[in-house]
Amino acid sequence: MELETAAASAEAPYIEFQHVGFSYSNGIKALHDLSFTVKEGESLAVLGANGSGKSTLVRLIDALISPDEGDVFVRGLNTREEKNRFAIRSVIGMVFQNPEDQSVASVVIDDIAFGPENLGLEPAEIRSRAEKALSQVGMISRENDEVAMLSGGQQQLVAIAGALAMEPRVLVLDEATSMLDPQGRAQVNRLISSCHERGMTIVNATHSADEALQADRLIVLSHGELVCEGTPAEVLSDPAMVRAWGIEPSFAADLAGRLRQRGLQVGLTAEEGTLEADLLNLLSDAATGSVDR
Ligand code: ADP
Ligand code: MG
Repeated sequence: MELETAAASAEAPYIEFQHVGFSYSNGIKALHDLSFTVKEGESLAVLGANGSGKSTLVRLIDALISPDEGDVFVRGLNTREEKNRFAIRSVIGMVFQNPEDQSVASVVIDDIAFGPENLGLEPAEIRSRAEKALSQVGMISRENDEVAMLSGGQQQLVAIAGALAMEPRVLVLDEATSMLDPQGRAQVNRLISSCHERGMTIVNATHSADEALQADRLIVLSHGELVCEGTPAEVLSDPAMVRAWGIEPSFAADLAGRLRQRGLQVGLTAEEGTLEADLLNLLSDAATGSVDR
């Protein structure tokens, strides 16, 4: 199968944007000459202010739109070609901003079964995938509840379970926590981390610097252009720069910067391995709502 052939080139990036430009029919140029890659198993944050082009980038990954200039490849398959679209969408699980927009059935388990049903799987396999996905998001006890009765955070966990039931290799999230309260945000962020720990590739589009801090690597979009790329520590450590992109600086990164100015050797991420990094991770969790304050 074509998909397997593409996957065989081990070092090939899982997702690749090559000099991508995209304009909407009203003439607004949403993306300019955008090039970046995502490796298998990597967690990438796409950080940008409102209108910077994040949702456009996400739609290009899922082949919902095609670039005007350049190319987008998923597992080596060009999203431009109609014949590749099923294979591309079958490895990508999408989660959008508003959980209500993603819900298709009134009862939780039916909502999650909808995707696997469309894959044409056997009923027993559908049931087993739906239950497994619900367990993964910690919502198995709510399988017979009405989706509408759940909190926003719980509805978003159900939406993610719906994506996981498709057994995607890549989870793509577009502002998936921005409608949620701090507790819901924390639930969803923990779930994203656990998907990543299990080897899933993550692309998380967000306007939150604190959330971007959780990724392995991030790219920053400003007015449709890639303006910065690197590890969270590299990209987020200068609050003035972050503000210039229209983003509220990360609380943890800001604090690390201030402590450094006072001569304290502090790291920002766990990889930097300092004692202070643990403290900063804790502060970052507090800022993103991942721990109770
Ligand atoms: P973000 O998700 O970062 O807020 P978008 O990708 O939605 O950014 O938008 C990028 C630019 O494209 C903005 O200027 C926005 O107004 C414009 N845009 C987005 N969607 C459409 C659309 N369907 N039609 C016309 N313009 C759009
Ligand atoms: Mg958007």
